[in-house]
Order: sequence, then C-alpha cells, then structure tokens
Amino acid sequence: MKPTVGLIGLGLMGGPMGLNLRMSGFPLVVWNRTKSKAEELLAAGAKLAPDPRGVAEQVDVLITMVSDPAALEEVLFGQKGANSGALAALRRGTTLIDSSTVSPDLARRVAAACAERGVDFLDAPVTGGTWGAKKGELVFMVGGEAEVLERVKPVFEAMGKKFPLLGPNGAGQTVKLGMNLLLALQVDAFAESLALVTSAGVPAEKLMEVFQSSMARSGVLDVKAPMMVKGEFPASFPLRLMHKDVRLALELARERGVELPCGAAAYETYSAVLGSSKDDPDFSAVIRYWKH
Ligand code: NAP
Repeated sequence: MKPTVGLIGLGLMGGPMGLNLRMSGFPLVVWNRTKSKAEELLAAGAKLAPDPRGVAEQVDVLITMVSDPAALEEVLFGQKGANSGALAALRRGTTLIDSSTVSPDLARRVAAACAERGVDFLDAPVTGGTWGAKKGELVFMVGGEAEVLERVKPVFEAMGKKFPLLGPNGAGQTVKLGMNLLLALQVDAFAESLALVTSAGVPAEKLMEVFQSSMARSGVLDVKAPMMVKGEFPASFPLRLMHKDVRLALELARERGVELPCGAAAYETYSAVLGSSKDDPDFSAVIRYWKH
C-alpha cells in the first residue's frame, strides 16, 4: 500500500508535482487557497480538503509548496484565531516535506515544531523550474536525516530525478538560496551586457550569436536569453519569487556576516522592475530596467 500524500499549494510548481504523484499511484489529498487551481488534480483522482488542517489529518506524508515564508507560516501554524494550521493536525510518525523556498531559519523553526509533535521534517526546496516539475525531473535539495529521506524516497522519485542530502535541517534551503543567487546574477549580468551592446547600436541578435558559442553560455541563459531578446516574459519562474529569493539570500548573508555586493546591487535592479511591472512576469524581465 502506498502512503497517502498531502499537497498544500497548487501553483505553477505544486500543480504538476501533484499530477506526477497521482501518475505514480499515490493517494493524494490537496488544498489550495484559490480552490479553482485544484480542478485538474481532482479530475486526476485527488481529494480536496477544506483547509490545510483537513489535509494533514488524512495523510502519512505532507508536502507544502507555497510562495514564501509568510505563506508557509500561515498554512502550517494557521492564521491568528483560526484553528486551520496543518502542523497541529499531523499524526505522530508522519513526515512533513517543505519544498517552498523559505529561509533556513524558518526551516529550523518548523523542524523544531515537528520534533515536539513526533513528526519527521525535511526541508527540500527544488530546482528545475516548471519544465522539471511537469517532467518529474526536479532536483530536491534536502536538509534533514538520512533515514527519513530513505523512508520517503518513493515520494521524491515520483516528482524528481535527484534528491541529495546536503546536511541537517536548513541545509536544503541554504543551498537553494545560493543557487538562486547565482541564477539571479547570471540573468542580470546578461541583461547588462545586452543593454550595453544595443545602446552602442549593435543588434541583440549579434551578441546572442557569439555568446551562444562562447564560455559565457549557461543552462539558464539558453532558456532566458531568447526571451530577453524577444521581450516576452511569460512567467515560468516569476520575478516576484526571484526577488524574494535574493532578499532571503541577503538576509542569510547578514546573519552570517558575509558581504554580497553583487547580490545587493541585483536586488535593487529586481526591486525596481518589480515595482514598475503591472503584470506578473518571469524573472528574465529584469531587462526592463534598461527599457524604461
Ligand atoms: P506560485 O505559482 O505563485 O504558487 C504559489 C502557491 O502558494 C499558490 O498555491 C498560492 O495560492 C500559495 N500561497 C501564496 N500565499 C499563500 C497564503 N498566504 N496562504 C496559502 N497559500 C498561499 O509559485 P510556484 O512557482 O508554484 O512556486 C512555489 C515555491 O517554489 C516558491 O517558494 C518558489 O520560490 C519555489 N520555486 C519555484 C520555481 C518555478 O520555476 N516556478 C522553481 C523552483 C522553486 P493561490 O493559488 O491561492 O495564490
């Protein structure tokens, strides 16, 4: 018998992750703040719970996949005055996996709250984007204990291709923030280079032609550079989430006493574009900084 899995957060990432869990035959209970986003999963055989607590009551493994630290606190600990938080309803011996990108500090606080209830916890944020989520080829960056990871391995296998254990709780989130700092800087650096070349009268395509066959080529830019040259930014990894991740990286750097001068500069650029964008663009829209 496969364990019953719960999934809270059915956005760009959670939706396809849930479909892959169903395709692998896991009984699935879901909840999303905006109910309509659960429709595809319900059609695929998932059950809808009335609130996060209602998911937790029914499952052996609970996965959370929400936007940011505030959203995670809300679904796990509940809104003030409401008895709707998931954590208090998880049974002893169950496992909570948080795949949202949040701070390592919050991951450790959740781990402590889980330990008090006899619940195992893994922080397991992901990389691979919406493409990886659809294909079931995500990479999970895991913080926690090896035997817990081993026990829930089939759940990870349904959604991803790799799930390295990186250290104790919080290590997964730490590596994730380092990863996204790197991606944010790579895309921001390409935007600067494009702004320079085009300002001097050379078309963007000429930079692309050379850059694609040079050492500057990278996985993220293979995907994002063509979008930036075309000026089309359908959200795959929304800029609002990358902005949040750079902020979390800077907060961690402050806690650790590390200076991130490039990160701090990129945060200003992403903030300016976030503030002036009326849509919900992909983070490659950082190029708009030079197009005002
Ligand atoms: P998304 O499409 O914006 O979905 C966010 C989810 O969080 C939605 O289900 C949303 O509910 C829920 N949520 C937000 N605030 C909430 C609150 N206060 N209470 C309850 N639920 C709340 O984002 P996503 O792309 O799926 O990303 C999810 C997480 O994965 C984020 O932490 C992100 O940084 C990370 N991530 C994303 C990608 C990517 O390529 N997209 C890649 C790697 C990691 P509603 O539907 O009601 O808004």
